[in-house]
Amino acid sequence: MKNMEKNLKHLIKCPACQKKYQHRRTIIIEDSGDRTVFHLTCQNCQTASLVFVSRSKIGVVSLGMATDLSADDVRIFFGKEPISSNHVIDVYEKLKKEGVKLSNFI
Ligand SMILES: [Zn+2]
Repeated sequence: MKNMEKNLKHLIKCPACQKKYQHRRTIIIEDSGDRTVFHLTCQNCQTASLVFVSRSKIGVVSLGMATDLSADDVRIFFGKEPISSNHVIDVYEKLKKEGVKLSNFI
């Protein structure tokens, strides 16, 4: 996952203003090998985003969404409720069906 993390940091853009994130504002919330969750704060518009990257049978899925949660809030949330790869895909598909605008980073 180390290489992917490095690559992602070059690819990830702010969903709000489309500027590239600065690496030092990227926090890894969770990294369990087949899934990684980043919390990012845009240095340009201060929008905080969560980015889920998950490896699954259908390939690598990435999903970014703006959030009001701080990195600490997210850690608490993730500590309580483990999220599986399938869960991320389910959420992604659900949001897509509902017409929510999603940003794909890969
Ligand atoms: Zn931004």
